Amino acid sequence: MKPFMTIKELLYGLETKQFSAEEITKFYQDRIEKYNPTLNAFLEQFETETIKTELYGSGLLAGIPGALKNNISIENRTITCGSKILQHYKAPYSATVTDRLRQEGSIILGTTNMDEFAMGASGEFSAYGAIKNPWDTERTPGGSSSGSAAAVAAGLVPWALGTETGGSIRQPASFCGLVGLYPTYGLFSRYGLVAFASSTDQPAPLTKTVYDNALIASALSGHDPKDSSSLPEPARDFTKNLDGKLPKNLTIGVIKNSLKSDGVDNQVKIAFERAIKHLEHLGATVKTVELPDMRYGIQVYFILAYAEAASNLSRFDGTLYGTRAQGTEGLLDMYIQTRHDGFGSEVKRRILMGNYVLSSSHKEAYYKKASHIRSAIRAAFDNAFEHVDLLLSPTVATPPFKLGELCDDPIAMYLSDYFTVPNCITGMPALSLPCGYTKEKLPIGFQFIGPRLSEEKIYRAAYAYEQSTDFHLKNPRGYE
Ligand code: GLN
Repeated sequence: MKPFMTIKELLYGLETKQFSAEEITKFYQDRIEKYNPTLNAFLEQFETETIKTELYGSGLLAGIPGALKNNISIENRTITCGSKILQHYKAPYSATVTDRLRQEGSIILGTTNMDEFAMGASGEFSAYGAIKNPWDTERTPGGSSSGSAAAVAAGLVPWALGTETGGSIRQPASFCGLVGLYPTYGLFSRYGLVAFASSTDQPAPLTKTVYDNALIASALSGHDPKDSSSLPEPARDFTKNLDGKLPKNLTIGVIKNSLKSDGVDNQVKIAFERAIKHLEHLGATVKTVELPDMRYGIQVYFILAYAEAASNLSRFDGTLYGTRAQGTEGLLDMYIQTRHDGFGSEVKRRILMGNYVLSSSHKEAYYKKASHIRSAIRAAFDNAFEHVDLLLSPTVATPPFKLGELCDDPIAMYLSDYFTVPNCITGMPALSLPCGYTKEKLPIGFQFIGPRLSEEKIYRAAYAYEQSTDFHLKNPRGYE
């Protein structure tokens, strides 16, 4: 076996008996043991005995190991959400996505590190230490699905699930040279995920290639009666139309703000412009699309996300879940002390802001207004999709930044999500994939955004782009 194999290659190797499922598992376990001390991508690595008890099955992912972000429930496994408050908390049941991946025969090797309660864009807000980017360990892998992205990029697992509320899969995918999906809201079940902002939270895969991503997405797809927001859609095979050609008569809209904005790093701009040219060369018609309302995306997203977080996280008060402060005087004191000790500063900031924007004296000015602008942004996207099939923009305005660089500047950190939040608040799918590298050999990503339920089209276009370029074939050095 060799490092950095794709799921497709592993499945072929299994089928042609080049190696066994046991050998694959051992291979990746050894890699996790060897490289995780440097990266801090995994919070827990599962023992071999447990893995043996899991079914290899004969499903789509039979014998293929992977990892789950630690806000996705696996029955009887610790689910910390990167927080001290849930340090010893064990999930009482498994998430639907966990069950589906296991039913398809995949083997879960462990849980990955993350920004506390998925709030962050750098992996530095984990209570269990910052996660490193395998391309340059002085830099962030992005966040909040930091551990999942670092693990796949370094070849510690061929796939991992992350969750995304406003960029947490695509931004780390861009920073780590990977493919990352944000699905149509409701396409994959949220049952068994710990909620941050329920109206945009979604689980989805991080992989090295578009095909692998489409394969995991196929395993996750299909209606889940346990999740009231799950769409009544049948399970799909997102790999079946990946033939290396763009969808017929594809019209792509380049979001104008994405080229004009001063905030976009020059190397990102150059790689993105090259990607546009390449898509044109493949036969796409390219137009420029104005989406001026997109600039309100960040403000709207953070107001809504703060509000939903404040409400969702009110359940962590020391009575039902996780740790409880000891030696306190009375119930109120226990609540206060538990939350004071258990939550990190970014989570506290968001709870404070969330309660503020929801307070009776301010909800009209903030929460209600943000909800209105959310509808306006959705209308602007719907309107754009009357004229183009897919939209295009860089995934993030910059290459991966240095660890520590934005820690004390929450606004600058939030701006990292400029291009990723607008489609999340409108429930529309997007896929980030690599389109270049900086002079310092740091990955750059761009994204396709589509109307609701356009995943098949997005995967097809992305696959055609990927297969006619070589960005997905590069790997970080030092993990051979
Ligand atoms: N970086 C964004 C935030 O901090 C996105 C988080 C997410 O998608 N979970 O909220």
